[in-house]
Amino acid sequence: MDIRKNHPLAPLTTFKVQASAETYVRFAAEDEILDFLACQPLANRRWMVLGGGSNLLFVEDFDGVLLHPALQGTAVLQARHGHVLVKAMAGEKWDNLVALAVANGWGGIENLSHIPGSVGASAVQNIGAYGVEVKDVIERIEAISIPERRMVTIRPQDCGFAYRYSHFKGPWQGRFLITAVVFRLCRQPALVTHYPGVLQAVEQIGALNLKNLRKAIVAIRQGKLPDPTRLGNAGSFFKNPVVSQTLLDGLLHDFPDLPRYPQGARGFKLAAAWLIEKCGWKGRAVGHAAVHDRQALVLVNRGGATGREIFDLSEAVRRSVCEKFGVDLEREVLVVGSQSV
Ligand code: NAP
Repeated sequence: MDIRKNHPLAPLTTFKVQASAETYVRFAAEDEILDFLACQPLANRRWMVLGGGSNLLFVEDFDGVLLHPALQGTAVLQARHGHVLVKAMAGEKWDNLVALAVANGWGGIENLSHIPGSVGASAVQNIGAYGVEVKDVIERIEAISIPERRMVTIRPQDCGFAYRYSHFKGPWQGRFLITAVVFRLCRQPALVTHYPGVLQAVEQIGALNLKNLRKAIVAIRQGKLPDPTRLGNAGSFFKNPVVSQTLLDGLLHDFPDLPRYPQGARGFKLAAAWLIEKCGWKGRAVGHAAVHDRQALVLVNRGGATGREIFDLSEAVRRSVCEKFGVDLEREVLVVGSQSV
């Protein structure tokens, strides 16, 4: 266990903005977390978990306890009936797990290739891309219940999974620290290729199979999304909004080429990037922050941006979209300050 005071967070988050945590605790084993909680109950303290730091924007120093479970390792728990159950510890890099799965011919997460972040965060966020969401392959989640200071197993059907959402981001905040996720992967996977450009990208590589699909997704993402090691960012800053048929009809009257995707009774999903681009924000910089020039859903740190600068830009973008389209964009990135933002 490694405990530090006023620990710098820029190296631990992909936005790379300067901030510090009053107390930072890095754990390499579940026992260490339980021991720490026994000595320092968190009941009356502000605390949060740091995963891969790829979905966080610190706008101020964090005046609480930042728990960083750096638990590593993967193991095959079961391999039969065309499925494998693979357990990955929460601190594993998500894309290393995808690479391992694809190398072994285990399908189910190949469309989630090249997503930054950790295995633990994948479940919190219910990461999704190119028609696949991680919730569909989660068998169970292992966690520490912070108030009870004991290990628990959580079933996916109890997690409230929805588009980029789980109860870990909602009513369970402050309750669980995920230590491992068990995935059910498939030996004869049905490949998901219906998103625009995916099949064409595979065809440029070769036959349609698991390995080439991963390569294609990586190539698409590399062509469009900024590399956080070169340009600080946290992927999509906003979620794609879902609107009612009535609002959609009104929008189509003024914007007949508006991309929309039916979501059953929930309404229609709109592409937030399209809305932001139509407001003239794509590629626009304000100070040290900017809207990315190839993907308008991504805000970037051009170098030296403060968290507040990026946050202010995000609010300006949000206001524009609301004024032009009457659509309220919800943040996907978690904004953290000394108070909730
Ligand atoms: P895109 O292909 O330009 O499409 C724009 C949006 O339209 C996407 O966000 C996607 O929604 C939606 N969409 C496109 N085709 C669809 C279909 N056949 N059915 C339903 N919805 C469809 O999107 P992009 O920005 O390049 O992203 C491609 C994929 O990678 C998307 O799934 C996106 O969510 C994912 N991605 C995630 C992050 C992140 O940080 N979380 C960052 C970049 C990209 P969905 O987002 O619901 O799929």
